Amino acid sequence: MVKVLHDEDIQRDVLTGKKVAVVGYGSQGHAHAQNLRDSGYEVVIGLREGKSAARAREDGFTVLPVADAVSVADVVMILMPDETQAKVYKESIKPNLKSGAAIAFAHGFNIHFGQIVPPDDVDVFMVAPKGPGHLVRRTYEEGAGVPALYAVYQDATGQAKDLALSYAKGIGAARAGVLETTFKEETETDLFGEQAVLCGGLTSLIKAGFEVLVEAGYQPEAAYFECLHEMKLIVDLLYEGGLSNMRYSISDTAQWGDFVSGPRVVTAETKERMKEILADIQSGAFAKSWILENQVNRPQFNAINAQELNHPIEKVGQELRALMPFIKQSVKDQETKKV
Ligand code: NAD
Ligand code: MG
Ligand code: MG
Ligand code: MG
Ligand code: MG
Ligand code: MG
Repeated sequence: MVKVLHDEDIQRDVLTGKKVAVVGYGSQGHAHAQNLRDSGYEVVIGLREGKSAARAREDGFTVLPVADAVSVADVVMILMPDETQAKVYKESIKPNLKSGAAIAFAHGFNIHFGQIVPPDDVDVFMVAPKGPGHLVRRTYEEGAGVPALYAVYQDATGQAKDLALSYAKGIGAARAGVLETTFKEETETDLFGEQAVLCGGLTSLIKAGFEVLVEAGYQPEAAYFECLHEMKLIVDLLYEGGLSNMRYSISDTAQWGDFVSGPRVVTAETKERMKEILADIQSGAFAKSWILENQVNRPQFNAINAQELNHPIEKVGQELRALMPFIKQSVKDQETKKV
């Protein structure tokens, strides 16, 4: 088992007296910035003008253009969307970075795949909370925290690890637990999880199940409830207590069906496909396709997205959710848009 560090294990505070620039004020950015400030650290926000900048000012922060925030900062936490980081880094961060400063990330993509190549005289670390920003903020306010992974990619000052741990403690993560990883491990497992299981695997599973029922002549409404709507109940049980908790709560008929039919859907062949997906992530093939897709303004992303929006499951879902206004309410209150 990996070692899990808590608040009491992190005694060397090397963040006090340093100025932190949080670049980006979205899901993660607002949570890191507010938690660090409440922990007593000095925070400025680096942003271009727009909705996020207005929100950061409303929340009482000094908002500066990215270049200006970086030039006064000892720690620059980069919390822009992964696909925009390399460009902003090149134009506004790198030219203004103080020698001996640190750049930090909540996901390893740009460092691991060489899109950001830091100079030798800065520390490079990661603190990646294992939850969306709204949860990072809410749990902090409640006196708890969301666990986080931390990693050091480059230690120029000899303090990079202490800095990463102080930062993790500052955002409240060490109240829950902080685990060491590497940029490589975090990046590759994150991409694999979202592609093969959480996002890609799940949406394909839901659509296939829906299509099989509808093609067999069942009503789309019934298919929607069985294959999509009820997923939440199941996922909540998994989240709270793992596979056995879910199986404990469902009927024994459902559990027997789980045992005999699950392995007929996700077969040895499916596992082979998952290994191919992992290999594409490890080789950089996936990263290359995503970087190039962005450079040509996302023609394929946009085309597939338009197609997916037109899938019958989306239309029937819209109609059925209109009957359940309580769902709309709770989703609007959350910012669960990213993994
Ligand atoms: P987000 O889309 O919610 O917010 C991005 C922010 O960057 C916004 O404030 C936006 O205004 C700003 N921004 C965009 N382009 C900019 C530019 N050119 N110049 C200056 N600011 C710009 O992003 P997020 O989901 O918080 O993700 C940030 C990082 O955190 C990513 O590396 C992501 O992988 C990582 N992460 C996210 C989550 C999550 O749950 N959202 C969890 C763990 C790690
Ligand atoms: Mg993830
Ligand atoms: Mg049912
Ligand atoms: Mg049922
Ligand atoms: Mg049972
Ligand atoms: Mg991800």
